[in-house]
Amino acid sequence: MPAVPSAPTSELPPPATTSATSSPAFDPNEVTVIFVLGGPGAGKGTQCAKLVQDYGFVHLSAGDLLRAEQARAGSQFGAMIKEYITEGKIVPMEVTIKLLENAMRAAMSSEAGEAKEAGASSGVKGIPARRFLVDGFPRQMDQAVKFDETVCPSSLVLFLVCPEAILQERLLERGKTSGRDDDNAASIKKRFDTFIHTSMPVVDYYRKQGKVVDIDSAKSIDEVYEDIKRGIAPVVSSSS
Ligand code: UDP
Ligand code: MG
Repeated sequence: MPAVPSAPTSELPPPATTSATSSPAFDPNEVTVIFVLGGPGAGKGTQCAKLVQDYGFVHLSAGDLLRAEQARAGSQFGAMIKEYITEGKIVPMEVTIKLLENAMRAAMSSEAGEAKEAGASSGVKGIPARRFLVDGFPRQMDQAVKFDETVCPSSLVLFLVCPEAILQERLLERGKTSGRDDDNAASIKKRFDTFIHTSMPVVDYYRKQGKVVDIDSAKSIDEVYEDIKRGIAPVVSSSS
C-alpha cells in the first residue's frame, strides 16, 4: 500500500476563503447536500445525471474528481490515486474532502450552469448552485464524520441497493468501453469487498440518524428514477 502523503492538501487548489475548523463550511439551511451511495455499478452516476437535468443539482462524483486529479498535470497525488483506485481502496480522506469542498465553492461562486469542471456538471444556467448530489461519498466512516463536521451535513442519503451478481455484470459490460482502471474482474472483486466491509458501516451510521432512503436499483433506469424522485421529495420541495 502506498504511504499516506504527509501534507496531502498542499498542492490542491485552495478554497476561496479559509474555513473555520469548528463549524461546517456550508450552512445546511442554505445548502442541500444529498449523498448518493450504493455498490459499484449500482447506477449512482446514471441517476445523478437525471436529477441534474430535472432539478438543477450540481453533481459531484468523488470518483470523477479523484480521476480528474489523477490526470491533472503536476499533481503530486496522481500515482497514489491510481494505485488506490486500481486496488479498490479508499483514497486518504484529506484529498477527497478537499476536492469536494473546492468543487462546492467553485459551483457556488459561479452560476450553476457554468460549474462544469471535473465532476461538477450542472444543469440550470443562472441559478446559483445550492443543491448538491455527492455521488460515491462518503464510503468510509472517517470521511463521513469529517465531511459532516467540516463541510456540510447531508439532508438525505439515497442508498441504491442491488444484488452483487447484477452489479458485476454491469461493471464488466461498462469495462468494455469505460477505460477505467478498475472496471476489470480483479478490481471489481476488491471494490465489492471494500463496499461490504468499509462502506456499509457508513450507510448504517446514517440509517441510525434516519437519513437513509433505500432504493431498489436492480430495476430499469426509469423505474429507479421514479422511486428516487419520490424519495427526495421531502428535501427538495421546501427549497425549490
Ligand atoms: N474513491 C475513493 N474515495 C471516495 C470515492 C471513491 O477513494 O470517496 C475511489 C475508490 O478507489 C473507488 C474508486 O474511487 O473504488 C471509484 O469510485 P467511483 O465512485 O467512481 O466508482 P463507482 O462506485 O461509481 O463504480
Ligand atoms: Mg460512479
